[in-house]
Amino acid sequence: MAKVSIGLRGWRFDEEEVFTDDGEFRALDSVPDDTRKRLIRLTYLQEKPCDACYLVHGESEKRRANGAEIVYGEPMEEVLLCSEHEADFLYWFREEGGKEAAGTETFRDEFHEWFLAGNRAPEGYGGLEHVDTDPDKLPTPPDPAELNRRLNENYEGERKRIDLKTGEITTVEEGEDAPSLGDVDLGRDYPTK
Ligand SMILES: [Zn+2]
Repeated sequence: MAKVSIGLRGWRFDEEEVFTDDGEFRALDSVPDDTRKRLIRLTYLQEKPCDACYLVHGESEKRRANGAEIVYGEPMEEVLLCSEHEADFLYWFREEGGKEAAGTETFRDEFHEWFLAGNRAPEGYGGLEHVDTDPDKLPTPPDPAELNRRLNENYEGERKRIDLKTGEITTVEEGEDAPSLGDVDLGRDYPTK
């Protein structure tokens, strides 16, 4: 099965799980759970800054941070990186214990701590195995409003909603108001310096 990145490099999806034969996104409830979580998470992540840049510049200078181009780790514990900082992450992952933290709840924090302590990949550290892809050329994840609309178009009577943080799909009880997407707090917690 062909693999494809969507929105950001890093996470890879089985093309057939995500797209129909016509190249449209599949209906979300026909997408396997883990894939759906990542897909939904991506709609949120792709506008975010690189974690390392953010740590360097801080909240007040956030606009100086490069936009994320690459995502590593599991949804909710993911690390976002620009191409400039990818080598630092890979060095931490391979040589400084990052691999052991993979899949744990502290994965992201451990990288942040390592980076904040002033650690970096040695000059010229290579080891980028992927072929560099221009993120602008990757398929764009559908936007959250569009996901929500599509999720509901095939149901009569009951409404469904997506938790944009976890990717879970739940049914909204009759009479219960679904919170609008604008109300959902999607904040990522960044450590302060
Ligand atoms: Zn960066």
